[in-house]
Amino acid sequence: MTTPASTTTAPLPPRSARAGSAKTSPVRDLLALTERPEVISFAGGLPAPELFDLDGIRAAYDEVLRTPAVLQYSTSEGDRRLREIVAGQYTDDGLPTEATDLIVTTGSQQGLGLLSTALLDPGDAILVEEPCYLAALQTFALAGARVIGVPYAGDELDLDALDRLAAEHAPRFFYTVPTFQNPTGRTHGLVARERIADAARRHGFRVIEDEPYRQLRYSGAPLPSIASFAPDHVLSLGSFSKVIAPGLRIGWVRTTADIRPTVTIAKQAADLHTSTIDQAAAAHYLGSGRAAPALERIRTEYAARRDAMLDALPRTLPAGSTWNSPDGGMFVWARLPQGMDATAELARVLPHDVAFVPGAPFFAGPADERALRLSFTTYSPERIRVGLSRLGTALGSAR
Ligand code: PMP
Repeated sequence: MTTPASTTTAPLPPRSARAGSAKTSPVRDLLALTERPEVISFAGGLPAPELFDLDGIRAAYDEVLRTPAVLQYSTSEGDRRLREIVAGQYTDDGLPTEATDLIVTTGSQQGLGLLSTALLDPGDAILVEEPCYLAALQTFALAGARVIGVPYAGDELDLDALDRLAAEHAPRFFYTVPTFQNPTGRTHGLVARERIADAARRHGFRVIEDEPYRQLRYSGAPLPSIASFAPDHVLSLGSFSKVIAPGLRIGWVRTTADIRPTVTIAKQAADLHTSTIDQAAAAHYLGSGRAAPALERIRTEYAARRDAMLDALPRTLPAGSTWNSPDGGMFVWARLPQGMDATAELARVLPHDVAFVPGAPFFAGPADERALRLSFTTYSPERIRVGLSRLGTALGSAR
């Protein structure tokens, strides 16, 4: 039997509806232009590479490479010693935690994906802060979630809206970055944390609290995690990306007992486990006594960079602009005066070799076109002053 020669080619199946719903943004094209070396870009969220503790981290890798086990397959839950160290940090912070509560992930970004797999079916409603961390929005869109934004009332989350939207949509979870949020640098105060936990209990939704910036505090008093107010309702994500180095790709999920087996299976299906050697090196580095002083250097330097930015902003942004003064993290959130559009301004300032990121892509619903995010961690205070002086000139000449 011979196969008949085909005369037509059948069309290929389309990509999934879920993949189609993850939006790309016109801002991406503009931001591609910020990669020219002469551009001072406040757009990215990059930690300062000169503050990575190269010697300490290299010593940790050298040490753990004395045994072949660090190059072997390992368990999906992650390196036991690393989980014990992270559990100890939570416990010292007032949230009693066992190593077995933790699953190590390939960055906290993977934690977002694993929790989406474990908790969401296509069409499920979830609540997010409005605006929200962009790559979380992408993860939730790929999971087919119906994403509903909880607005801010000024600089505070609108907790009445959270209540109302929870009653209306019966969300699977509320996703929040409670401390030094990306993109706004905002932090939920004690009362807000208690009320979020209380709403989760009353309405029966979970909370995912994503905390990559928690340890980057430069002023103000530390706040308890939301999990300490509703331990059965809150899943916490953490990461070494901002406190050691993002290239390590090590984060974790602090799971509740009811979904731990599901998250573990999701992890196994995703990549079996996070790199054995990277986990072992991170554990060794944390135990070596070198991590704490390195983090202190990062905090001191970032505080100076934040102050340099806050000091220059009154001379930089047009009259009528507003911005916040975050107690930590990496970002300042600003708003241009009425009638200005941050995306249009970005196109205008780029020829002056300076960049920021417009706020619009961070919104799940209707965007605030006047908003923009400025990152203050990547450059020295002197370079920040040069960049903001360019920005001031560019914005001034644009009108
Ligand atoms: N969550 C938030 C709020 C972030 O800002 C980031 C990184 N920018 C991540 C998660 C992901 O971090 P990582 O995967 O490097 O741990």
